[in-house]
Amino acid sequence: MNKSRSTSLLERARQIIPGGVNSPVRAFRSVGGGPLFIKRGDGCRMTDEDGNSFIDYVGSWGPLILGHKPKCVIEALEAVLEIGTSFGAPTEREIVLAEAIRDAVPSMEMLRLVNSGTEATMSALRVARGFTGRDLCIKFEGCYHGHVDSLLVKAGSGLATFGLSDSAGVPAAFAATTISVPFNNLAAVEQAFDNYDGQIASIIVEPVAGNMGCIPPAPGFLEGLRTLCTRHGALLIFDEVMTGFRVAYGGAQARFGVKPDLTALGKIIGGGLPIAAYGGRADVMSHVSPTGPIYQAGTLSGNPLAVSAGIAMLQYLKAHPEVYTTIEERTAALCADPLPGVTVNRVGSMFTFFFTNEPVFDYDSAKKSNTVRFGQFFHHMLERGVYLAPSQFEAGFVGYAHSAEDIEATKQAAAQFSA
Ligand SMILES: *Cc1c(COP(=O)(O)O)cnc(C)c1O
Repeated sequence: MNKSRSTSLLERARQIIPGGVNSPVRAFRSVGGGPLFIKRGDGCRMTDEDGNSFIDYVGSWGPLILGHKPKCVIEALEAVLEIGTSFGAPTEREIVLAEAIRDAVPSMEMLRLVNSGTEATMSALRVARGFTGRDLCIKFEGCYHGHVDSLLVKAGSGLATFGLSDSAGVPAAFAATTISVPFNNLAAVEQAFDNYDGQIASIIVEPVAGNMGCIPPAPGFLEGLRTLCTRHGALLIFDEVMTGFRVAYGGAQARFGVKPDLTALGKIIGGGLPIAAYGGRADVMSHVSPTGPIYQAGTLSGNPLAVSAGIAMLQYLKAHPEVYTTIEERTAALCADPLPGVTVNRVGSMFTFFFTNEPVFDYDSAKKSNTVRFGQFFHHMLERGVYLAPSQFEAGFVGYAHSAEDIEATKQAAAQFSA
């Protein structure tokens, strides 16, 4: 595979952007080699600057459930460009998007639009603290909630890849507001409530973990979190930045039938543009400024381009429920008959091939994977025109643009792998 242009662009990028990338996992550090610079995308395919073409299972890390350049989103963007790019004043379309979100995710009785998933989880956490008057938050090892200071504790993917358990630059006092416990372990959560009685504002959880690879919630786990939060007066925050509109139109809370107090959304709700949202119970959200004392703001929040793309995406998904049945079937086909030595986890159209024989149900069991072998597999697939996430600890995504033939071609490429 010719990588000459990507290689020279990386050299140039490194002079001005740390590592040459604007988000660390893009750098291919955990699989070796340099990242490919992408020239364009179309449907389920991406083409790099050297003209190599790939079936894309990253989908911009989740947003592209309809593939690259879906007609509905592109048309919405073309239409909105006519009216301007930002006003810093309310517009009708922001209500339309907020109502579309509430229609899909009824627990979000009121919500705010923000610009990234990180902002959404950071704000949800602040609201939980402001509402309860408590400081502590329980999170799960291997779950990632964006690069919020206090949540960069055992935070999966990028950090797992780099072997850092934490980030430099986070004051110890911030990290000390987070209690980190193993995913799928209700006894540990109960213990934390006992140890810090009356001090825990919230539990934040990826209801399907995606940032240590895909890990489903064990039966009863989410229900147990709901019960414990209610019993102890803490708020349950579902970080559905990845799972929202992905594992079902109504997200993981619809798929598993558990209702959180607050939800963070991102990724798919922007149709490939930067937007996110947080919201939940109206009695809680009414404490947000200007109606309440909890401050949160944003110059570009509710940006017309991002909002229009989001509306187009959500309207399409609502009108086409077959998207979800189709992508789930395709993903099931992709995950059937795994390679020897590989454990496959899948929820809906999220999947991970873990290079271990053992079941993977939390961060410790995920870390038993053979990352060297994963790196070899990643490059084997790349050489054969399949673009997987460049880390063992990521979820892959199948979108509506992946055909049965694309899945079959991917399986044939994988079957040629032996290490
Ligand atoms: C991607 C992601 C985030 C962070 O979103 P950004 O838009 O990258 O800030 C937060 N939580 C989860 C579960 C995510 O997958």
